[in-house]
Amino acid sequence: MRSDYCGALNASYIDREVTLCGWVDRRRDHGGVIFIDLRDRGGIVQVVFDPDAKENFALADKVRGEYVLKVTGKVRARDAATVNPNMATGEIEVYGTALEILNEAETIPFPLSEHSSVGEDVRLKYRYLDLRRADMQKSLQFRSKVTIAIRNYLDENGFLDIETPILTRATPEGARDYLVPSRTHENKFFALPQSPQLFKQLLMVSGFDRYYQIAKCFRDEDLRADRQPEFTQIDIETSFMDEQGIMSITEGMIKKLFNDLLQVDLGEFPRMDYATAMAKYGSDKPDLRIPLELVDVKDLMGEVEFKVFSGPAQDPKGRVTALKVPGGNDKLTRKQIDDYTKFVGIYGAKGLAYIKVNDVTDVEEGLQSPIVKFLPNTVRKAILERLEAVNGDLIFFGADNATVVSEALGALRCKLGEDLNLYTCEWAPLWVVDFPMFEQGDDGSLQALHHPFTAPSCSPQELRDNPATALSRAYDMVLNGTELGGGSVRIHDQSMQQAVFDLLGIGSEEQREKFGFLLDALKYGAPPHGGLAFGLDRLIMLMTGASSIRDVIAFPKTQSAACVMTDAPGAVDAAQLRELHIRLRQKEQKEKAE
Ligand code: ASP
Repeated sequence: MRSDYCGALNASYIDREVTLCGWVDRRRDHGGVIFIDLRDRGGIVQVVFDPDAKENFALADKVRGEYVLKVTGKVRARDAATVNPNMATGEIEVYGTALEILNEAETIPFPLSEHSSVGEDVRLKYRYLDLRRADMQKSLQFRSKVTIAIRNYLDENGFLDIETPILTRATPEGARDYLVPSRTHENKFFALPQSPQLFKQLLMVSGFDRYYQIAKCFRDEDLRADRQPEFTQIDIETSFMDEQGIMSITEGMIKKLFNDLLQVDLGEFPRMDYATAMAKYGSDKPDLRIPLELVDVKDLMGEVEFKVFSGPAQDPKGRVTALKVPGGNDKLTRKQIDDYTKFVGIYGAKGLAYIKVNDVTDVEEGLQSPIVKFLPNTVRKAILERLEAVNGDLIFFGADNATVVSEALGALRCKLGEDLNLYTCEWAPLWVVDFPMFEQGDDGSLQALHHPFTAPSCSPQELRDNPATALSRAYDMVLNGTELGGGSVRIHDQSMQQAVFDLLGIGSEEQREKFGFLLDALKYGAPPHGGLAFGLDRLIMLMTGASSIRDVIAFPKTQSAACVMTDAPGAVDAAQLRELHIRLRQKEQKEKAE
């Protein structure tokens, strides 16, 4: 039907005849001449109809916003005065010689140009219209380029694209499952995959050696701003490769993506162990664009009169740390400090102590702070020395249990970085390695930090002896404070897998019930293997600078995990439920009440 996309036209087309198909972005009537901005996925071009061609003109007069048109015409240069430098096609216009209305359109529920003033619910209800906007077109076209580049890279490196089931058993990735009732097996349920983890490991046992899949994953979690209940992973698994090999090949993929699609050289990714990341940045996904670091002062505070500091300093699970903002005295007002105090409260911090350094040589009079009176001069001096403070600096303190302090001051560090625009570079990638194997709950129970198939860096016996301090062979790729992906070398030995299940408190019956097939597979010649998965949506979000994950997904769910366009999840009729052997509790109660 068409010869070219609207947005592709430029001065090199002058005098050529083109046929375009698209939607009416805008129609204007200017003293007897009708201008139509015609839009398709490539962009917008101005089409002109003048009254000399009577039939076309009459038709053009009928045209309204979002009508679908087919236009034939000649490309011509615009007058110098009407050139529009803000428009990609602004140097030219199309002089229309034929016009066909392919379809009419009712007035749409919100003008596309005013999308930001309507609620997101409206945009999502009419998502097919919202997707007509240039931003959304660009973002999904970019997404397609990314997935093609990924496929090409992985294909060139010998990876096979293999699909794994969606109707399956639970995969323990730490979230709730989405369940699907079985009609043919009464009272039984499938789970949608939280990831293809177990299947990709089994593919290694089968000898496929290098697998990838751009896979949909489902996790029924309470949603945060950058989460979706169904999301896409670039899922990868390899055999006979250690963590160095896996990190190197996947780092190569991300570097190539940035190079080819954004012309950005990410350089070599530094590696940081988990303990250092937590100590210096209070986070296992540190944003290295921000030069601020946490400096622990626990050892200085054990004896001070101030209970807020001495309590956590004496507690083995406590942490007392300081965060210096160079020049912060002038940069931060009292009100901002109050706001930051509220901000750290979100992470459970009970307050935010600070010291303003007016004169570093005078610890008696040169420090301004509500808490300094509680600190002896020797401690004041030691703090200033350890933080290498100079006049004008402001020092924040966090004192509580280690988790609260790390989360609160880690988040404050990022907030200060953003508010004071402290970024030293645009992109800061890194690998975080040497994670602990387990997290310990307050009751002493252990949970896998990654997932239970991750190999520890020690023997089964050492693991059983010291589970709380054992490290794993897991690695996360982090970019600008966001976890892009994570994975691990896996356990390929049945006795090790059993040791991990035992430590996690998964008894042998439950092991057989839930993972019998994996334990069996490990008996029949499982190769050493490992892999990782990247969050595709987050990757695209970072690459496009989108502020919401929903802006890089064609049909996302709302914050409450619903689709307002299709009205899903929806009710189902009684017959369907009966077939599925399901009776609804609430309905039952209502019926009883009636
Ligand atoms: N299955 C893991 C996840 O979804 C990634 C991996 O270990 O490969 O986070």
